[in-house]
Amino acid sequence: MASMDEAIEKAAVHLAGAARVAVLSGAGISSESGIPTFRGAGGLWEQHRAEDLATPAAFSRDPELVWRWYDWRRGLCAKANPNAAHVIVAAIEKAVPEFLLVTQNVDGLHRRAGSAAMIELHGSIWRGRCTACAHRFDLTVVPLPTLPPLCPLCGGPARPDVVWFGESYDPLLLDNSQRFLKESDVLLVVGTSGMVSVPVYLAEAAAGAGTVVINVNPEASPISRFAAVEIPGRAGAVLPQLWQRACER
Ligand code: NAD
Repeated sequence: MASMDEAIEKAAVHLAGAARVAVLSGAGISSESGIPTFRGAGGLWEQHRAEDLATPAAFSRDPELVWRWYDWRRGLCAKANPNAAHVIVAAIEKAVPEFLLVTQNVDGLHRRAGSAAMIELHGSIWRGRCTACAHRFDLTVVPLPTLPPLCPLCGGPARPDVVWFGESYDPLLLDNSQRFLKESDVLLVVGTSGMVSVPVYLAEAAAGAGTVVINVNPEASPISRFAAVEIPGRAGAVLPQLWQRACER
């Protein structure tokens, strides 16, 4: 197996020559900001598993419980700061001619780091969506004064504006993500376990279309099967080194 240093060097060569770059990020990129991944340590909240709360069934059974969990997560996100990996992703966007970030994260840290060309594939915990009229609205206050929050247009109860387990993706967002990733020179995948199958599919389709996939994750994952370069390290340490070397070339 190539050493970490060799892997970063190889990835830097690809990145330095790329005019069109995509990044696909998952919960791992925010773990160094102190936001727990669902499946890692700290994944339990009041004895509930995320998989049992982030579902339409959980919401119809007990909307207040689901909202209390989201409000707890919003509190964690509000206290957290973007880390070096978020900052580098925003720097790459400014430096390359064509760029798109597709994130599975709902925490808003990429935006706070300065990313703008971004698709939030799984939505955002900083928005609510009315269950009556489907109006989307920002939720900036933590904690929320009423649970569930009420729609400012029609007064109906809102749900978090996120994609839950078992729900479909927005087809337009999926289509746009897929098209950009497939036509990219390089796709940097960061902190994605592959337990959610759609992001793996997006990355694999891009690799099949000739995009060079670079995978940054301390653990092997289904992405490792088709990644051209595997960098087995933490995003906050790897991305600054990778970008510095790419810029020096
Ligand atoms: P995930 O499936 O994306 O798994 C996290 C991955 O990150 C794992 O493979 C782990 O090895 C890797 N990882 C951990 N620390 C890392 C680091 N420092 N650098 C690079 N990689 C690292 O996430 P999940 O927790 O299984 O969640 C599934 C779904 O829920 C996804 O949509 C996810 O984005 C979402 N979620 C979002 C947040 C958030 O917005 N921050 C938090 C939890 C879950």
